[in-house]
Amino acid sequence: MMNQETSFECPSCSSDKKVPHDVLSTTKKKLVIRCTLCHTTQQVALPPRFKNLKLRVIVSDYDNSHMSWLELSALERLHIGDEFIVENSSVDAVRITAIELDGGVRTVEAEAESIRALWAQKIDKVVVKIAVHSGKTTKSHKIAFDGEKRFVVGDKERLGEVARIKIKHGPLFDRVGQSASAKDIARVYIKNTTRRSADRNQFSFTRHKPTQRR
Ligand SMILES: [Zn+2]
Repeated sequence: MMNQETSFECPSCSSDKKVPHDVLSTTKKKLVIRCTLCHTTQQVALPPRFKNLKLRVIVSDYDNSHMSWLELSALERLHIGDEFIVENSSVDAVRITAIELDGGVRTVEAEAESIRALWAQKIDKVVVKIAVHSGKTTKSHKIAFDGEKRFVVGDKERLGEVARIKIKHGPLFDRVGQSASAKDIARVYIKNTTRRSADRNQFSFTRHKPTQRR
């Protein structure tokens, strides 16, 4: 999802020829894109290659393994060593250990679209549910953290300011300064005070350690 580019006609500077556009955001049906030449922003129907897909992941956890799913954009590139959150009967933070393409070929890197199956190792992170409240909308995310990572009511996090913390089978903290470790948290409520901006899609929420590879 990071720094994706696509080619489209630009209504303002290039109506007859496709020019590179940065993808600002995607929804199930639409793409918001910005012309790299004149910076005109437009909304277009989602091209098929931007659709999301679900990849099958075999997750190993010491001696056990189980099947899980990774949902991501068809265009996203995966690399051995990338870390993701996968979901099935459990929600796990994992690191990719093998990538298999259609036809059974193994590779170190591939576009999601061409992948048949993934193998991954469960890593020692806890997945925290985060509800981000911004204006009238609330969006839910799942993000992996070290179990000891502390959340403090009133502190600024990447997504905004921590407003409340619900403890697993415990109380709801809402006084500034109250804190808890990621491993003890059921859900963190965040108030997004920043305005909707062009770089809000700079990181994908499935991928908890954005890679710099292109
Ligand atoms: Zn343009």
